[in-house]
Amino acid sequence: MDKCRASSRILIIGAGTSGIAAATRLLQNNFSNVQILEAENRIGGRINTISFGDNVIDVGAQWCHGQQGNKVYEMVKDLGILHLTGDYYSSMKMVRSNKEEVSQAVGCNLHDIAIRSMPSGPNPVVGSFGTHMVESYWRLIEKEMPEVERALAGEALDAFTKHESSIIGSDNLFEVSVREHIEYDECDGDKLQHWGTKGFQRFLRLLMKVSEDEPDDLGLLKGRVNLCKKVDKIELACPNKVFLRCEDGDYFEADHVICTVSLGVLQEQAEKLFVPPLPPAKVNAIRGLSLGTVNKLFMEFDQQPLPDNWVGFYCFWLQQDLKELRKSEYFWLEGITGCHKITCQPRLLLAWVGGPHGRHMETLSDEKVLEGLMWLFRKFLTFEVPTPKRFMRSKWYSNPNFRGSYSHRCLKADEKKTGPWDLETPVLGPDGHLGLLFAGEASSKNHFSTVHGAVEAGFREADRLIQHYSSCSSNP
Ligand SMILES: Cc1cc2nc3c(=O)[nH]c(=O)nc-3n(C[C@H](O)[C@H](O)[C@H](O)COP(=O)(O)OP(=O)(O)OC[C@H]3O[C@@H](n4cnc5c(N)ncnc54)[C@H](O)[C@@H]3O)c2cc1C
Repeated sequence: MDKCRASSRILIIGAGTSGIAAATRLLQNNFSNVQILEAENRIGGRINTISFGDNVIDVGAQWCHGQQGNKVYEMVKDLGILHLTGDYYSSMKMVRSNKEEVSQAVGCNLHDIAIRSMPSGPNPVVGSFGTHMVESYWRLIEKEMPEVERALAGEALDAFTKHESSIIGSDNLFEVSVREHIEYDECDGDKLQHWGTKGFQRFLRLLMKVSEDEPDDLGLLKGRVNLCKKVDKIELACPNKVFLRCEDGDYFEADHVICTVSLGVLQEQAEKLFVPPLPPAKVNAIRGLSLGTVNKLFMEFDQQPLPDNWVGFYCFWLQQDLKELRKSEYFWLEGITGCHKITCQPRLLLAWVGGPHGRHMETLSDEKVLEGLMWLFRKFLTFEVPTPKRFMRSKWYSNPNFRGSYSHRCLKADEKKTGPWDLETPVLGPDGHLGLLFAGEASSKNHFSTVHGAVEAGFREADRLIQHYSSCSSNP
């Protein structure tokens, strides 16, 4: 049986979390002919830790969300390398576009009502997240805060729904399936555990078993990762083979392929990537699920730019100011959910911009984006924020190897009766052979959009092959 595993050739498309998880699992289970083809010139995919400021920043995934049932947490919990953040976002200031700071008592109540307005429990199971949240929010405001200024409550609702959209990765909450939210399995425990001064890359090193003495080594994956190898054709052929062609003209042949590319890449390229075309259920899933855009804007200052007792602030737009903003060149700033300090990097500020505004931001020059941010600071804050000495931002949507940030189940998926389960299903070759397997965060039933979902999906497909070779030792 092990001979069978040793000789079978597995190619994995993508050296992000899912691809790395699948490869390491296979190698640890006696598969020795495993290679990864990666389009970028680096490994990690949507985990991208880079040097910036006093140590590092994470341009993509940053936090380990929860503990119980979280594969990432389970792998590192005894090593003391994950740090608790606590309830970061609820301690942010709330500032209106007329520079008025919302009192802590009122702000906390509004925040609490927004959290309690999110759909939960077995009902309701149909409709959009946004509709349920907005109705429930105003009902609770009438009941519990009848004296609050309606305009302020509306500004708070806008800010909190924008924030929630950026967590889900949707353009707005009205496109998100309420079923997604209820069926999604949040891991209990601190939702914002961070990696100190090492970044999320630390986790990938552990997965690959890279030794502390040689941090640039690839550990188990040494000699197995082929960078700058963009696959542009995947052909399921007879007998029992899969042929891959890369953009640079290279060809590869495999017994099995695990495809881990993002949902956005599949949406853009599936029609020309796969031969024969993918089965209708798979196409339905690719078209029905959504990959949102969430981008990060990092600013480095000589000294921390916010007062000591500020973690950060949410932007509450007055209706009149919003009307004017929408007519101006800075309209994309409406997509900024807020701005905050980064743990272990007090001299940095991080702003988030998502949805269509996040995609528009990617089309602007660094200078224009920074100019907009400085305008925003002047608009909202009573104190001066100096021009940052360094600036960088992510562009997850315009990169053709990602085409977005993370996936969610939208109403369209409910209408098409599809979900991650259809993305997960393997595609058999013409002779019924287990040729093409799918991993990646979007294929995780309960933990899509996260690193732990990507790990689970990678392990799941590796286990499928391990199982396959356990049951067909005489007929690999
Ligand atoms: C801004 C941002 C913040 C996030 N924050 C968090 C967080 O705090 N916590 C959390 O848990 N998750 C977070 N996530 C989500 C998390 O990063 C992803 O769910 C996870 O990293 C996805 O891993 P993956 O292996 O499925 O996909 P990817 O990381 O996208 O890996 C797929 C790989 O395939 C490669 N590829 C694509 N096309 C081809 C091709 N044709 N040929 C060869 N290779 C190809 C890509 O270059 C990529 O390296 C965040 C993501 C973003 C963008």
